[in-house]
Amino acid sequence: AARLCSGAGGEAESAGGDGAMLRHLARKLRASGPVTVAEYMREALTNPGQGYYTRRGGVGESGDFITSPEISQVFGELIGIWYISEWMAMGKPTTFQLVELGPGRGTLTEDILRVFKQLASVLSKCDVSVHLVEVSPKLSEIQAVMLTGGKVQPNPEDESAYMKGISKTGIPIFWYRDIQDVPPGYSFYLAHEFFDALPIHKFQRTEKGWREVLVDIDPEVPDQLRFVLSPSRTPATQNFIQPEETRDHVEVCPEAGVIVQRLASRIEKDGGAALVADYGHDGTKTDTFRGFRNHKLHDVLSAPGTADLTADVDFSYLRKMAQGKTATLGPIKQREFLKNMGIDLRLQVLLQNSGDTATREQLLHSYDMLMNPEKMGDCFNFFALLPHHRLVRPDKKDRPESKSPLLPVAGFNELLLK
Ligand code: SAH
Repeated sequence: AARLCSGAGGEAESAGGDGAMLRHLARKLRASGPVTVAEYMREALTNPGQGYYTRRGGVGESGDFITSPEISQVFGELIGIWYISEWMAMGKPTTFQLVELGPGRGTLTEDILRVFKQLASVLSKCDVSVHLVEVSPKLSEIQAVMLTGGKVQPNPEDESAYMKGISKTGIPIFWYRDIQDVPPGYSFYLAHEFFDALPIHKFQRTEKGWREVLVDIDPEVPDQLRFVLSPSRTPATQNFIQPEETRDHVEVCPEAGVIVQRLASRIEKDGGAALVADYGHDGTKTDTFRGFRNHKLHDVLSAPGTADLTADVDFSYLRKMAQGKTATLGPIKQREFLKNMGIDLRLQVLLQNSGDTATREQLLHSYDMLMNPEKMGDCFNFFALLPHHRLVRPDKKDRPESKSPLLPVAGFNELLLK
């Protein structure tokens, strides 16, 4: 099963794991008191020794959750076409970087690069490079095998990357731990199921005002964690709750805000676009923090480090964080985006070309997973950052010569690629 939106799913599974992370956290909580949910999430997911992504990796059928690129190659192919369509609409710049945040097993990049190869004649005069932002050593190894056959150079001296290699299709690939290490330049960014893995703060409205939800050790049960409320306001309650807020429970992901600000600044300065795909809402949901292990819901406070922790992405917050540096489009539902990108036609072609019943059934099954409103079709969304000039023609006075209408952005409108 995919990590469907909050609310969808059964009873949470609990316990298990070797307990190393729990012991580490329990020691810390006993010594210095409760921590924010963001701090807990960061430790549980990306602690360099015991973190979930560091050790377990999680993505894929044999992991804890499955994602769209792992379900169907069509997903990545249509995203590859999105980048080509935007590259053409932006006047075919002679070079671009494809920058993926949190590439998981590398499947999405692999599918995109296959499209770039198939459309090599279109891209022939363009210098393309791939830049992967990945904190997990384990997943970067899996990506290296998937994309380069394992032929990589660690710690190249001449680069800010921690690893580099050449894709099977001949494109240079670089790995970084932080978006800030990626060299500046015209770039197309991609973040699929990345923002939902970043640490959130949680807040609760009480009679005495806003309080932050914290994680503490349960004094009654040894080595068991529990949620408590901060006795007074915390710096985060002051900074992140808007005076006009109407909800009683709010989740905020400041790290996502910082990354979107960086993406927006880079796009404004050097050009390009960003495509964000994730499950999420537009500033309306409340408690969406949840865990996944072995494809089942998992108690978020149980056996930290052994389960994926995630929260819905608040697209209204991302839009606000772009701060007008770029235009934004979406969120639009996955089924609408993929339909606009021509998924139905692609499915028909693949069905016609497949001889055996098992393959045809698999194609139809994966189409249903991606598109069915009850599965991933409705709760996954696409959201884009684009330079203002991509959507609004500069004042006619400045450019009296430009008569042709602006091309609509594929996915958010029907694909018009010829
Ligand atoms: N995009 C992939 C994987 C999603 S899982 C897919 O859709 O299949 C989340 C990914 O983000 C993993 O690769 C994880 O290691 C990475 N990740 C999590 N936190 C990160 C951080 N702070 N910086 C960079 N990568 C991170």
